[in-house]
Formats: sequence, structure tokens, C-alpha cells
Amino acid sequence: MTKFVFVTGGVCSGLGKGITASSIALLLKAKGYKVFMQKFDPYMNVDPGTMSPIQHGEVFVTADGCETDLDLGHYERFIDEELNYTSNITNGKIYSSVIEKERKGDFLGSTIQIVPHISNEIKNRIYEAGTTSNADIVITEIGGTVGDIESSVMMESLRQIRLEKGRKNTLFVHTTLVPYLYGSNELKTKPTQNSIIELRRLGIQPDIIVTRAPLDLGEAVRKKIALFGSIPEENIIEAKDVSNIYQIPLNFHKQNIEEIILKQFGLQVTTSNLKYWEDLLETVENLKGEVEIALVGKYIELEDAYLSVKEALKAAGYPYKTKVKINWVDSELLEKETTDLKEIFQNSSGILVPGGFGSRGIEGKILACQYARENKIPYLGICLGMQIAVIEFTRHVCGLEDASSTEFNEVCPNPVIDLMADQKAVIHKGGTLRLGNYACKLTKGTLAYKDYNQDIIYERHRHRYEFNNKYRELLESKGMVFSGINPDNNLVEIIELPDHPHFIASQFHPEFKSRPIKAHPLFLSFIKAAIEYPKK
Ligand code: GLN
Repeated sequence: MTKFVFVTGGVCSGLGKGITASSIALLLKAKGYKVFMQKFDPYMNVDPGTMSPIQHGEVFVTADGCETDLDLGHYERFIDEELNYTSNITNGKIYSSVIEKERKGDFLGSTIQIVPHISNEIKNRIYEAGTTSNADIVITEIGGTVGDIESSVMMESLRQIRLEKGRKNTLFVHTTLVPYLYGSNELKTKPTQNSIIELRRLGIQPDIIVTRAPLDLGEAVRKKIALFGSIPEENIIEAKDVSNIYQIPLNFHKQNIEEIILKQFGLQVTTSNLKYWEDLLETVENLKGEVEIALVGKYIELEDAYLSVKEALKAAGYPYKTKVKINWVDSELLEKETTDLKEIFQNSSGILVPGGFGSRGIEGKILACQYARENKIPYLGICLGMQIAVIEFTRHVCGLEDASSTEFNEVCPNPVIDLMADQKAVIHKGGTLRLGNYACKLTKGTLAYKDYNQDIIYERHRHRYEFNNKYRELLESKGMVFSGINPDNNLVEIIELPDHPHFIASQFHPEFKSRPIKAHPLFLSFIKAAIEYPKK
């Protein structure tokens, strides 16, 4: 029978609940258990796909094409497991599915109510994650803070699950803040006490309390939290501030969090295999060199908008013992006449244009791409970054000055990037992009083939527009190589320029498959080229 761990948060958001949940999952996996993860987001959007990245950070995409909260990226990077559509549930998904069932007549005769109809739907999604993943333990994180109106039904569902499955099969982890007050120079437990009271008001008694604090709690504070929380002192797990998030699982391990969980579940406490994670931490804490990469985007005021790209760049530096420093470049700034590109890019040994939507800042990205191509600076284009590279090349190398994408100019005379017929028919914006895994066949002898060393790869997509195959011959005749093609529909997946030291771009998003312990091949070769760049 699947066991369930629920991770809730108190006091305020931003305490690292996602990292707590991921760390627990990592530690249980290191004990040999099969784990699966899930996140509940209490907003009414069906998924974050239609939200601005400036509000909620990046939209993470699973292999099966689900647009999800960025916390799922943390999960996948920590536990190195592919998640799926059962992993991100929102209020929007729950309510729309209950209403759809009502319209179909599934509940004929009944009055549809929050409890039991909405709460049952939530419970079913949690149980579904258990049955479809076949995991020993499912870890479910509840977004938001205990006491929020939005998440109150979710909490009610958790209360019922505890009732149905009992303490042997369910465990509640509550993460809270223990702030330090300057002046009186002490850690304060009252916010934690209050958030536990709030949790109990919803009928939930925590089994483990994870305390975020700037210092060690000390005996007196631990005793106080244990007393008010009604838990044994050893069930308080201290999440002291760290400089490096990879430290957190190891800190939790030292406090035996896995043992507490496994004992409550009546599961065998085996020895942990954490050597690979300790090695990772050792590497990350002893990086010697540094390489600077310019990331040219238009959502740069929120770094989380590019979270997976940022993590993928960092990870690609690890095998070279190199710290990757990101120079955040606002693409709109590049469009100003007074901007000196040479000055902007002077310290960067690589230029990366990531994904994006809409026409704002597009010309600036084209300028950045042109600068990389002409000055032989390593270039990596991702999704929109590939479309930009195609437009730039068509304009400046093939001489079609009016080339563009129909996303930016619907009546463009040379639409090198365009909608396919199936996308032209789409009316709804939500969930209708090309999403998730698609196959890509690589051409032998190309940079892409060298990077992957494989014939067929599967990578995750999130875009509506495609390379327009009508222009393939023209671009090829001028030196662009189409090194990755979808074998099923002949769409372009990867382009490269062989007369450049390192110029490659993909229609898919490689960043979603990068892991700290297993950097992505396209990022690895990009960082390697960037490290070698100044020597050239
Ligand atoms: N806006 C482009 C498209 O829809 C690129 C999307 C992206 O970069 N994720 O095709």
C-alpha cells in the first residue's frame, strides 16, 4: 500500500517548502524506496501556462506535456525521476473537472458541494498519484500557507485521508519560520506556535515540524516547540539557512528525518546511499574557475522566470569545476541606439537566448544573436532562441531583410517561423501549445550528434510556432545545418552553424532534462566552448 507524506507551510511563503519536500523524497529514495512527488497549487488557473513568468516564474514542462509550477523542476532535479500529469494539481483543475462531471450527469440527483465533491476529487488525485506511479511513498506539497482561504479544501481532504488511511500510512510535515529578533537577540517561537494552532483548527496534527531559522535553535527553543507542537523533540528538524541548497538533504539526514518517517510507516530503515550527493556538494563547494554567460531575456527582473535554464547552466559548470556566472541582459536595452553591444557583452564568453513569447524585446534578441554569430562567441538558443537565430540568419546572411515570425508580424512577407495548419485552427490559448516529449533524429557528423552521441533523442517542447520548411533549402545553401529533425512530422528541432566555433539552437527546451548530477549535453558543450572561448 502506498504511504503518503504531506508537506504544508506556515507563517509565510518562501520558506523553502519545495526544497523540504524534494529533500525528503531524495532521502527516502536514497534508502531504496520508490518515491513520487506531487504539488497542489491553490490558484484557479487550470495550469500556470497562461500566467506571466514575471508573476509566477517559469512554467516547467513534464515529459508527458503538462505545464506545471516551477517547484516540479526542483523535484525532478533533486530526485532524478520523471514526473507527469498527476504531479501538479490546481484548484482550477479540480473545480473544472467536478463541474464537467456535473454537466455530464455523473452526479445525477445530488447537490454538488465543496465537501464531499471537491474534497473527494482532491483525494482521488492524491490516490491516483499513488496508483499510477506505483510508488512506495508519495510526497505531496501543498502550495501557499496554512490558513489561506484558497487551500482550505485541500487541507480538509488531507484531514480525511489521515482518517481513512491512519497514522501508519500518512505523515504530516509542517514547515515554519523561527525568526531572530535583533535587539532582544533571541529566536521567537510564537509564529510557529500560531501556525500549528491554525493547522489543528483544520483538524491536522503535524508529525514532523521543519523549522527555518538563521541559527541553531538550542535546547530551550526546541523544547518549547515540541511542547506546543505536541511532538517528540527529535521530530523537530532544523532547516538552518544554508548558502547552498544541495546541503539541505544532508542536513536533514543528519537529523534522521527518513528514520522518523519510515518508523511511523512501519517500513524497514535501510542504510542510505548518499555518496553521489555528498560528492556533488563537495564539487559545488570547491569550484575553481569562473565563466560568464550572457542570458538575453525580457523577464530578467525575476530570475525565477529562467529557473531551469539557470540551474542547467550551473550544473554544466560542475564537471569542469567552473562556476557559471550569469550576466542578465535585458533584450529591450539592446534595442536602444545608445547601447554599446561590445560593452554589454565584453565579459561574456557565451550568449544564450532562452524561450519567450510575444514581440516585446525581439529585435534586441536578434541583435544579440547577430553579435554572437559575427564575433564567433558561443551561442545557445532555446526555443524562441532558435527562432531568433533563424530570423537573424535569413535577414543578414540570406539577404531577406523582412524575414520574421508570424508571431511578431502576422502579414510578414517572409515568415521563416510560422504556424502549422493544426495550430492555425486553435482557438483556446491554454494547454494548446506543442507540449512535452517529441522525438528528434540527429544527423551524424554534426555538433548535435557529437553532444548526444545518439541517433534518436526525446526532448520537451513548449511552443506554438515552427521553422517554416519552405526556407530550408535557402538557409542550407548559405551554410545553416539542420542537425535535428522530428522523424514523424519533418519539423526542424536543431539548427547549427558549422563555420562558427559553437553555434547551436533547439526548438525544444533542454533545460528541463538537466540535473545537478547529470548536466544536459547541449549545456555541457556550450559551457565547454565558453570556457575555451577567451583562448581563441
Ligand atoms: N513564442 C514562441 C512560440 O510560441 C517560442 C516559445 C518558447 O520560447 N517557449 O513558438
